[in-house]
Amino acid sequence: MQAFADSAGGAETAQTRVLYSRLSKAFALSWNSRNTRTTLIVALLLVSLVTAGLLTAQAYVAGWYQRAAAESVLRDYSSLVADEVIRRTSADVGYYGYYVLETAVLREAQRSAKLPADIADIKGAFASAQEPGLRNAARLAKSYFRIEPGKGGGLSFAGDAPPPRIAQWLQAQIAEMAASRRAGPFKKLTLVDQGSVHSFVVGSAQTPAGQEVFGGFETDMAALGAWMKTVLERQPLLPPTLGHGKVTNAMVQVSVRDPAGSQLVQLGAPVAGGLSATKAFGDTYQGIFSGYTVIAALDPQVGDAVIIGGLPRSRLPFFLGLLALNVALIVAAILQLRRETALQRLRDEFVASVSHELRTPLTQIRMFTETLLLERVRSDQEHRRSLEIIDREARRLGQLVENILQFSRSDRKVSSLVRTRRELAPLLAEIADDFAASLNGSPVQIEPRLAEGIAAEVDADAIRQIVLNLLDNGVKYGPNQQRILLGLEARDGKAVVFVEDEGPGIPVAERRRVFERFYRLKRDRESATAGTGIGLSVVRDLVLRHDGRCHVENGSGKGARFVVELPLAPSTPAAEGAR
Ligand code: ADP
Repeated sequence: MQAFADSAGGAETAQTRVLYSRLSKAFALSWNSRNTRTTLIVALLLVSLVTAGLLTAQAYVAGWYQRAAAESVLRDYSSLVADEVIRRTSADVGYYGYYVLETAVLREAQRSAKLPADIADIKGAFASAQEPGLRNAARLAKSYFRIEPGKGGGLSFAGDAPPPRIAQWLQAQIAEMAASRRAGPFKKLTLVDQGSVHSFVVGSAQTPAGQEVFGGFETDMAALGAWMKTVLERQPLLPPTLGHGKVTNAMVQVSVRDPAGSQLVQLGAPVAGGLSATKAFGDTYQGIFSGYTVIAALDPQVGDAVIIGGLPRSRLPFFLGLLALNVALIVAAILQLRRETALQRLRDEFVASVSHELRTPLTQIRMFTETLLLERVRSDQEHRRSLEIIDREARRLGQLVENILQFSRSDRKVSSLVRTRRELAPLLAEIADDFAASLNGSPVQIEPRLAEGIAAEVDADAIRQIVLNLLDNGVKYGPNQQRILLGLEARDGKAVVFVEDEGPGIPVAERRRVFERFYRLKRDRESATAGTGIGLSVVRDLVLRHDGRCHVENGSGKGARFVVELPLAPSTPAAEGAR
């Protein structure tokens, strides 16, 4: 028998080897191509991420340049305003103020040889002068002075005279002018003393007696500021065509500072830095305001009126949001890909283990059939044992095929259950008997503990498959010599079927996962115990279709107890009692 078994096994092995090598080649091919595909997809996703990143960076840089260009336009306009302030104030104060007043002062200084007594009243005289231009210009003077350097006398003042040291400085300046004989209608002399500005306008003329006389006035800074302000407010500081007439002086901020840095005029809100332009008055109009500066700026909302399309807003948050979305999508895609790959790997393993599982019973069946056919059995007892083995292996095959069919049905969501009311104890007893018979003298004992009178609406074939799967696992994963309990009781309005073995049990952390498709405990994946990982998923699927639930818990010993709860049939006494 052993010799035959070996030779039959030898033939089988040769065939199986071919089948196996083909399977493993196919497997290796599909594995390789899948790996390449995954790498390709991940690479494509990364390229898309890099592209999105580049686009965002590009958009950011473009936005930055656009904004910088718009800001430089605004700064140019501010500069335009500053130029206009300088041009307008210098011209107006120069022509209508200083020139008119200085001419009048020199006329007086020329005429009144008996000064200073006469000049004392000059302030009143100018304030009530016939010409309105002179009356107006006289507002600019704080005090008047006159000196005839040729006569050797000092400066004579009328009005609010400066402190003596300032007067001395002025006299020295005039002496220098007289010595150098610098011509010109008038000259401006400015001195910053202890933080305040003294600004004088001086001119010279000939007295009727042929003497050179110098005369002028000190500027009243407050009056100068008021004059400038009126001039600036008179007309728009930006050409109306620029902002389609919408940009008024209310949107312009101007600050004019004197040589001491004090603010002389302010238009609009205080000028904030940023887009402002600072300019010096320089030597515009003979430098009458040299040492003065102007800072001009435009209200940021002017940008919308003067720049086509308005001042660009920062699009960075939008682009960063897009980039984040892109990253999230790519992460989701990669996770999905990983799940797909893992599932595909499990399927591959499943195909390999199914072929392995099919091979074992097939080998046995062929071997013992041939033994019988060639009449190599030596006794009736051997004859019967061969038949029993063929029967057992055929059942195993049948159960495996049933599981695969059921699995594929559940995959396609096809339901083929026909539920009828059944007493569960007789059904389970029959299944236990059949299973015990298929064990063929194995030392494993099946012990049914079945309470009578419990009925449920079930599909008998499905219940058979559930219980056989659980019993089969008990035998497969438990010790060779053990007792497996098949129990039935009514609890909390449910019919509770359980299978308890004396095996290693199932770790708490894995108790949910063992019901998942293809899932096998690591210790069994790595051991020689054959399995496909679909038995318990078929159990769960069938139980759910009976509106029941299943789980695994600790057995009374160290083994596992698989529990299936089914709804009781309505007229079951236990169900009545539970209500
Ligand atoms: P298979 O037995 O074909 O591997 P199952 O779905 O029936 O697939 O079982 C899934 C896994 O659960 C098994 O691989 C095994 O690791 C574990 N398992 C199932 N039943 C038992 C049991 N009675 N004792 C210990 N482990 C078990």
